[in-house]
Amino acid sequence: MRYISTRGAAPTLGFADALLAGLARDGGLYLPLSLPQWRPDAIRALRGLPYAEAAVRVMTPFVGGDFGPAETEALTAAAYAGFRHAATAPIAQIDDNLFALELFHGPTLAFKDFAMQWLGQAMNRVLRQRGARATIIGATSGDTGAAAIEAFGGQSQVEVFILYPRGRVSDVQRRQMTTVGKPNVHALAIEGAFDDCQRIVKELFGDLAFRDEMRLSGVNSINWARILAQIVYYFVGAVALGAPERAMSFAVPTGNFGDVLAGYYAKRMGLPVDRLIIATNENDILVRALASGHYAPKGVKATQSPSMDIQVSSNFERLLFEASGRNPDALVALMSELASDGAFAIRSDALTRIRADFDAFRVDETACAEEMGRVYRESGMVIDPHSAVGVHAGRKALAAAPATPVIALGTAHPAKFPDAVERATGVRPPLPEPLSDLMDRRETIVGLPNDRQAVADYLRQTARAAA
Ligand SMILES: *Cc1c(COP(=O)(O)O)cnc(C)c1O
Repeated sequence: MRYISTRGAAPTLGFADALLAGLARDGGLYLPLSLPQWRPDAIRALRGLPYAEAAVRVMTPFVGGDFGPAETEALTAAAYAGFRHAATAPIAQIDDNLFALELFHGPTLAFKDFAMQWLGQAMNRVLRQRGARATIIGATSGDTGAAAIEAFGGQSQVEVFILYPRGRVSDVQRRQMTTVGKPNVHALAIEGAFDDCQRIVKELFGDLAFRDEMRLSGVNSINWARILAQIVYYFVGAVALGAPERAMSFAVPTGNFGDVLAGYYAKRMGLPVDRLIIATNENDILVRALASGHYAPKGVKATQSPSMDIQVSSNFERLLFEASGRNPDALVALMSELASDGAFAIRSDALTRIRADFDAFRVDETACAEEMGRVYRESGMVIDPHSAVGVHAGRKALAAAPATPVIALGTAHPAKFPDAVERATGVRPPLPEPLSDLMDRRETIVGLPNDRQAVADYLRQTARAAA
């Protein structure tokens, strides 16, 4: 499979090179030249397969040419071996026609593990084969950083730097990044918001000399392999509830738009998905954009669901590219409009295409807390605030179309956000076994200003010391 950039001016790459690149050299995002098409009988044949085997089937056409079948099987099996639930991604029923796909049984208790564990295995393999090293940089609103540090900690080929917004991640999230004690992973507390961290990372990638000097690699959901690994659980979840014989909708707690975008690609590949429901917290740029056609970031507000406290949703660029008929010139124009005016207008034909697949709902802080309380009272399940945003949006979709089952993605374990969960339900969820002493471990904290040069200098010094 070949990969092209949304901005049309970067070289076309094979899977392994797109994996190592992360962001394209023209500032765009890579995506596959074509999408494999799944017929109903192939979808049906996923029934009852172990998760890793289903993952191999879904991912194989995308990695072909670079990973052979035995290699794909081995690295996929290794990626999902560390999950704490035999079903890897189990489904629970919450209400009539409303289900939760639990994606938080991985090593760091958030759905990010599904993609990051696979990415860690895949990158390590490519780098070892090439005898190469890489510097991985990423921005995190909390969960990506923990997942990346867990996936890459101790690997010989990589030095990992994760930028997180100081004081804006939960204690559990911060400690998952600062207590690992592996010399090749570095969590950097930036004096700013997530969007500042993401901007610094994008600027460092945009400095092509620095990028080459440091051999930068990206693990944010700008990396296509993240999206790819997430497509799998849409297939697995839908098949478990009766696809391809019946269609369902997915409600997806959304920040950077990577997770729900994976659902969009699953649909484009032939999975019978009815509505893709974008669920946001009070940082509702995507809800406003779908309603008005006007994409206009505002200031970020801190909420109970910090992993979604994002204004600039990077992966929306991939959807805009698809909705504008894969026209890179249209994308370049929109992105320069965003850079100069701080906003852009989505063309009406593109907006119509987006609305044909997506709905978007904003869930405010009160509704989020009430949803956690309601699910606990009515089903005994304790869910986290991010998952609650998805469940609440799922209920809104069900009110409009009661006959279509809705699968809400459970994106984090409640123990990652114990304060918000306790306020809403009265229950303080304990951390599962391997993390039970997390709050007593020793932290190492490196603070840096909200400044690209300061971060670049730190990376240079630290990577040089390690080489
Ligand atoms: C990252 C994250 C999200 C948002 O996912 P995107 O792919 O960025 O839209 C939602 N919930 C949790 C718990 C997360 O960690």
